Amino acid sequence: MYINGKFASGSASEKTPVINPATEEVIDEAWRGTERDAFAAVEAAGRAFQSWKLVPAYERAAALHEVATKIRAQHDDLVRLLTLEEGKPIPENDEELWWVEDTFDYYAELARHERGRVIPPGEPGQFNFVLKEPYGVVGCIVPWNYPLLLLAWKMAPALAAGNTVVIKPSELTPLSTLKLVEAACDHLPPGVVNVITGYGPEVGEPLVTHPEVPVIAFTGSLGVGQHIARLAAPMMKKLHLELGGKDPMVIAPDAELDMAVSGVAYAALINAGQVCTSTERVYVHERIFPQLSEELADFVGKLRLGNGLDENVDIGPMIRDEFRVKVEEQLSEAASQGAKVLVGGQRPPQMLRGFFLAPAVVTGVDHSMRLMREETFGPVIPIMPYKDFDEAIALANDCQYGLGASLMSHDAKLVKRFFEEVKAGTIWINDPLTDNFAGPFGGMKMSGLGRELGQEGIDEFYDVKHVHWDIEGGVKDYWYPY
Ligand code: NAD
Repeated sequence: MYINGKFASGSASEKTPVINPATEEVIDEAWRGTERDAFAAVEAAGRAFQSWKLVPAYERAAALHEVATKIRAQHDDLVRLLTLEEGKPIPENDEELWWVEDTFDYYAELARHERGRVIPPGEPGQFNFVLKEPYGVVGCIVPWNYPLLLLAWKMAPALAAGNTVVIKPSELTPLSTLKLVEAACDHLPPGVVNVITGYGPEVGEPLVTHPEVPVIAFTGSLGVGQHIARLAAPMMKKLHLELGGKDPMVIAPDAELDMAVSGVAYAALINAGQVCTSTERVYVHERIFPQLSEELADFVGKLRLGNGLDENVDIGPMIRDEFRVKVEEQLSEAASQGAKVLVGGQRPPQMLRGFFLAPAVVTGVDHSMRLMREETFGPVIPIMPYKDFDEAIALANDCQYGLGASLMSHDAKLVKRFFEEVKAGTIWINDPLTDNFAGPFGGMKMSGLGRELGQEGIDEFYDVKHVHWDIEGGVKDYWYPY
């Protein structure tokens, strides 16, 4: 763990193994942190906050640019480590790292531009302004699927705004976080960045319930997010929750078929479908449904499964067997209800080790099936025909989640209806799953609270104060007696 500027075992006496999902080999171990470690990290972060909040913005900006520069210097090692512990192919982790580096540069600059605003006075002689202030210690709880990206989207704006952080990486992928902090944070004052490793209930929960942690920034599953919300509610903590998704993609009759086929495959299968914004439901106009499903099955059947470290691999393993089993259960349940698996869905017989699952294309699905209602988080593309655009929009919205939604069409009238009527935090037209620092990312409905990235992404880490300052002084005629 990394507490108060030092790497240490803390109070932990046990370690948890970190497994390479492509080979099932133990690649390293991390300390199994306890409540005492969470408390020690919070104390260090609380002390460091007293001076970090006073550091001039341009100095904090320089410190964060240095974090970015140091990460770039270790880029290839971090990419490899991400693939070792999480499984994504190298090109996907390359991209994850670019995003991480640029996120630190982006928020370094954004935070030095403004810290509030001046507003017209409410009374003559007053000066009124709004101050944005850092909260204090931010607890950053991160999942395994994009261990560094989702960390950077919290850590960079939280630090840039003047907060300090205690990071709790997933117990499945702690190594890349520790490596990033070792490589890039040694110039920051002790306590500004802390990392505690171990299991959520053991070391994450004490962070959530600690009275000196006013903000919890969490990315993870809906169930754990709800549990954290329940724990934090009595203390009125500021919660930033990025939760699950079941993103729809609608393919209009005018869509270019080759673009639709490879776009769907990319959006549904990147990181073996283990992306919160993976396309998990595809609705295709009935006129093009037969041809599209056939071409999609053909395209997906040719994708290359393998160890993400190897070249010429499109899709890596899933993170653990229990996640694979959940996907297989959804698939077999759907099949027993009439769905047809056109391709994939089985463990490749030649791959004896690793949590691989051949990517599947499934037809004959409907919304009575768990496969079309619950988050799958695996390499499965269920596709369903629709008759008209009203039906497509109704199907897209028929879901408890509202993270992202995609449309393939060049028909401006359909595009306008789609972005106005579909309830989702991100809408992609013809280019699914792209990111842009300057705009917010986050979910509507059960997909969460708050936004990451953009101005919105740093405002999550500022508390707001309105100052009414009567510069003139004097007794007011609206005071007593009336
Ligand atoms: P998870 O909810 O199991 O774990 C997330 C983190 O919470 C881990 O660090 C875990 O150790 C910790 N945790 C678990 N129990 C806890 C507790 N009681 N108290 C405090 N912390 C606790 O999620 P996961 O399996 O790591 O990640 C996959 C999920 O994350 C999927 O549902 C996916 O949709 C979601 N996700 C969402 C986004 C988004 O931006 N909306 C992005 C990526 C992943």
